[in-house]
Amino acid sequence: MALKLYNTLTRQKADFAPLDPNNVRMYVCGPTVYDYAHIGNARPVIVFDLLFRLLRYIFGADHVTYVRNITDVDDKINARAARDYPDLPLNDAIRKVTEATEAQFHKDIAALGVLPPTYEPRATKYIRRVEGGEDMVSIIETLVKNGHAYVAEDHVLFDVASMPDYGRLSNRSLDEMEAGARVEVAPYKKGPMDFVLWKPSKPGEPAWPSPAGITTPGRPGWHIECSAMAGALLGPVFDIHGGGIDLTFPHHENEIAQSRCAHNTAVMANVWMHNGFLQVEGEKMSKSLGNFITIRELLDDGWPGEVLRLNMLRTHYRQPIDWTKKGLEESQKILSSWFAQDGIDTTARNQITPAVLDALEDDLNTPKAIAEIHALSAAKDVNALGGALGFLGFDGSTLRAANERAAESALAVASKVVPLITARLDARKRKDFAESDRIRDELAAMGITLKDTKNKETGEIETTWEVAR
Ligand code: AMP
Ligand code: ZN
Repeated sequence: MALKLYNTLTRQKADFAPLDPNNVRMYVCGPTVYDYAHIGNARPVIVFDLLFRLLRYIFGADHVTYVRNITDVDDKINARAARDYPDLPLNDAIRKVTEATEAQFHKDIAALGVLPPTYEPRATKYIRRVEGGEDMVSIIETLVKNGHAYVAEDHVLFDVASMPDYGRLSNRSLDEMEAGARVEVAPYKKGPMDFVLWKPSKPGEPAWPSPAGITTPGRPGWHIECSAMAGALLGPVFDIHGGGIDLTFPHHENEIAQSRCAHNTAVMANVWMHNGFLQVEGEKMSKSLGNFITIRELLDDGWPGEVLRLNMLRTHYRQPIDWTKKGLEESQKILSSWFAQDGIDTTARNQITPAVLDALEDDLNTPKAIAEIHALSAAKDVNALGGALGFLGFDGSTLRAANERAAESALAVASKVVPLITARLDARKRKDFAESDRIRDELAAMGITLKDTKNKETGEIETTWEVAR
């Protein structure tokens, strides 16, 4: 079977045909580095790592170029830097925040078995490139020259009305968007959907010499960053562009507008791929709900990185994921059963079994691939694990340690619970119900729920227990 991918642009699954099979090119929007990456941020990182591995398998490891950027210029970064380092000059504080966050991000995703991309450009290096070549300023200059952008009050804005098919990716017409726009429209904008390519910096904020004859220093808008890094490293048209579904509009729509109008091309990337959103225990993850989980917290809690990875891949990438503790426990069980096979050597094998490959080639059908691996591993086919899902390189030691810890803590709980259950059954036998209820409450306070059943043969009451969730 040939690789098939779902394309947001055409709303269809189609055979993937690279522009150049000797250099398959993919760009994925990376993190804005001001805080720990949360488990939602890990989703595109893992999903597109899987696609990167699959492309390398199909086209050859040296025939794939994968770019995932780091956004290191942003208002959220400035705010965080001012808050955390009030005594430092803002630019020094920003460097501290972005460098520390980037290092943490690399540590976190390495634990999830994610390969480094071919290039990981930092946005600030592509505002004005000392070495020459395409950058944000050169794209902006081109867009002003060819009538797709205009200067107003020291800003440069993209003129959305100049692009007849603006809105194709998110499948909305300009009229619909304007009708639905709730954004406060700055008076200097020609049209309400026109977006910022460049804006003036306030004193003390990071600033670069402005393009298009603007004399005050400024900084780029968000969308132009990805157009510049993708153009510089992958060329005007490339194969795959990815990111989370929330980026479809406005971010990706605006990347497309900038790149196509600057390069005069019919598309920016042939295939646009978007992962679905992740929520936690049935709720949208948010700081205010207190259910905001970082990758680091999950690792610190003792979840092995490979369990987090498997848990992410058990759901198809386009579906929403509900991230739950129960799901993690199940993933740990599944992975433990795979690693429990005799003779498993996850570092040695790099083959993908045909059934697993077929599943992955069908728009990354990971639930099916995992079911295939599971069946093969149950049949003691130790070659099944393969490199496909990225579990090579994990030697299983973290997983074993986690399972041992879980067994130890289960034992520790049992050693407290079992004597209390015996005492409660004794109290019931002597009809001291006040005492038996008291013990039940004491156990409930420890998070233990009891279930009494009558043994059919002996007629005795027996009690089973579990830790309540
Ligand atoms: P950000 O740093 O917020 O721009 O996000 C970086 C990447 O993570 C983008 O591709 C987002 O679409 C993705 N992302 C953020 N939150 C979630 C979530 N809850 N579920 C899935 N993907 C997410
Ligand atoms: Zn982007």
